[in-house]
Amino acid sequence: MTGAGRFAPSPSGDLHVGNLRTALLAWLFARHTGRSFLLRIEDLDDRSSSEVADRQVADLTAIGLDFDGDPVVQSQRRSRYDEVIDGLDTAGMTFECFCTRKEILAAPRAPHSPPGAYPGTCRDLDEGERAERRESGRPPAIRLRSDITEFTVQDELCGTFTGVVDDFVLRRGDGVAAYNLAVVVDDADSGVDQVVRADDLLSSTPRQAYLAQVLGLPVPTYAHVPLVLNTFGTRLAKRDGAVTLTTLASVGVSAERVRAQLAGSLGLGDGSETPDPATLLARFDPSKIPAGPWILDPVDLL
Ligand code: GLU
Repeated sequence: MTGAGRFAPSPSGDLHVGNLRTALLAWLFARHTGRSFLLRIEDLDDRSSSEVADRQVADLTAIGLDFDGDPVVQSQRRSRYDEVIDGLDTAGMTFECFCTRKEILAAPRAPHSPPGAYPGTCRDLDEGERAERRESGRPPAIRLRSDITEFTVQDELCGTFTGVVDDFVLRRGDGVAAYNLAVVVDDADSGVDQVVRADDLLSSTPRQAYLAQVLGLPVPTYAHVPLVLNTFGTRLAKRDGAVTLTTLASVGVSAERVRAQLAGSLGLGDGSETPDPATLLARFDPSKIPAGPWILDPVDLL
């Protein structure tokens, strides 16, 4: 097998059918192209829990997905992230940032600077100014000294996408590696060359692809898949009702039935039969994935 795809959940809450649909798509894309399929537990956040991670793995297995090798666990890779950040630091490509979120939002910015982009406040502090800010007691975040303002990626489903690349955070003030850094390092270290995930992450992708390039790492292929929305048109969440396998099981809906519904939403079944994963794989055609979000009324799962 050549290359790998992956699913990389954050274990801060049980997976809902929207997450499961994204996982199924990532699995289908990987297997369809003869890649291995890896699981990564993105547990750098304080809200992560190993019990939730175990339930996520059990739910993914219950809908029929299989993974190669042991999961990569981000909390066990802190020293690797520090090593990469140190390398960028040595190359003069980082700076310390003492700003609070509030200061960043309030800072004056250049007339054409993109909304939400870091305004550059700490980029050019001299040694004296940095020492003064260190004394204020706030541990600095480490940002990338980016030499571009935007970057273009190719996405298998969304086409050509150009997005903001600012001096984004590599390591937070609390010492934890930032999402954008960890994702890029992990994908490259584990041989992931195909990234399939929900399209709410498309806007982070130019930053990640640029960082991969800066680090001399291969840029993976991308496919950002449409989100699942509730009937109000907002992102599906647990408050929308029975949307996790556990809550669905408690009202008599099996994991096979959920897989059948997901297959129906992807045009891979009519929702009434319960096709096994191999059948879904045989039917899978990336060019036929519905372009818009799947609007789900959880009652329809019953
Ligand atoms: N951990 C992220 C999430 O659960 C996904 C990261 C990724 O796929 O790159 O939203």
